[in-house]
Amino acid sequence: MIIVQKYGGSSVANPDKMKAVAARIAETSKKACVVAVVSAMGDTTDELIALAKQINPMPDGREMDKLLATGEQASSALMALALQAAGNTAVSLTGGQAGIITEKVPSKARIRKIDARRIKQELDSGKIVVVAGFQGITDNVSSADITTLGRGGSDTTAVALAAALNADKCEIYTDVDGVFTADPRVEPDARKLDSISYEEMLELAGQGARVMHSRAVEVGELYGVEILVANSSKQTPGTLIKKEDANMEIRNPVRGIAHDTDIARLTIVGVPDRPGIAYKIFHGLAEANISVDVIVQNVSEAGVTDLSFTVTNADLDKTRHALGPVLKEIGAKDLVTDPNVAKISIVGSGIRSHPGYADRMFGALAEESINILSITTSEIRITCLIDKEKVKQGIRALHKAFELEKV
Ligand code: ASP
Ligand code: MG
Repeated sequence: MIIVQKYGGSSVANPDKMKAVAARIAETSKKACVVAVVSAMGDTTDELIALAKQINPMPDGREMDKLLATGEQASSALMALALQAAGNTAVSLTGGQAGIITEKVPSKARIRKIDARRIKQELDSGKIVVVAGFQGITDNVSSADITTLGRGGSDTTAVALAAALNADKCEIYTDVDGVFTADPRVEPDARKLDSISYEEMLELAGQGARVMHSRAVEVGELYGVEILVANSSKQTPGTLIKKEDANMEIRNPVRGIAHDTDIARLTIVGVPDRPGIAYKIFHGLAEANISVDVIVQNVSEAGVTDLSFTVTNADLDKTRHALGPVLKEIGAKDLVTDPNVAKISIVGSGIRSHPGYADRMFGALAEESINILSITTSEIRITCLIDKEKVKQGIRALHKAFELEKV
């Protein structure tokens, strides 16, 4: 039996936590072959980014990847040392040594393939294998470069390794108990879910629930890897992310509420209402690798309209920069930025087949006098853009309106 376990940065933040995690890994290794994926200790990644920016405000992508990858290299070596100190045989591997081959895209490289021979060899010789998360290597031997998979990417390392090794279990250990109906820090009645479908988890993660890296869930769905999310410092059951099952029919059609305050809204004022204009604007943003959401175009008056959309705060400067030449070219009047907005969403696969959920959502927000700035939906999600200040109030109102405290 092979078990892949991933431990997040907060679970290995100091030597004591590292030793506690090593004890858990060692315990698991009594009944299975263990591949442990670790994140960088605590806030190491943030600190390395800040350090680089002090030295060079516009750091080069390749060098940043090489720098950030050291965080996980350190924690994986330390974890192997912790395991050895407790009498286990263990070896640590970088992403490249573990055979994780990626495309050559700095800071958000996707995994192309995994050559798991080295890991299998180490497991066969009875070792616990500790893999540095969040990183890989490009495969051209003469120009191989270390790459990273994007913030939070160690989750993706773990799920991809579980798929490549055909592992029996994939367990993501973190500092929360699992996936909740809403952020428990905001909603005290939030309930931990026993299971959730890949699709629902993707929607929640995409709308701000910070439990898991979206790409890890995508890889899990693609390769049919069930992913357990659980607390690294407790022995509680956690939440299993898996294919939708029959029971999912009889439970509450709404599974959870996600919110995201880390966004800004941009409004392009005075856009000519002609074919091809939206393409020009969003093509430029796509080229710059910027994800946009909640796109709304107003009804045009005299051939001119306004166009709004949201981006993450981290992408705001890049977005303004990318829009500059396009706005000039199309003759837009102005670009207005509003940072005081937030997204609030209800998610559940049952929304697809139950009419009236949008209605209930808008009603619950109206009762709290929360103004809805714009709305977007997917088949299993309804998202409202609201005032950032009202987001907590909105979460509580929706949690109650959809009776999420009940099983
Ligand atoms: N250390 C990286 C980050 O903080 C990757 C990870 O934690 O998964 O984003
Ligand atoms: Mg981290």
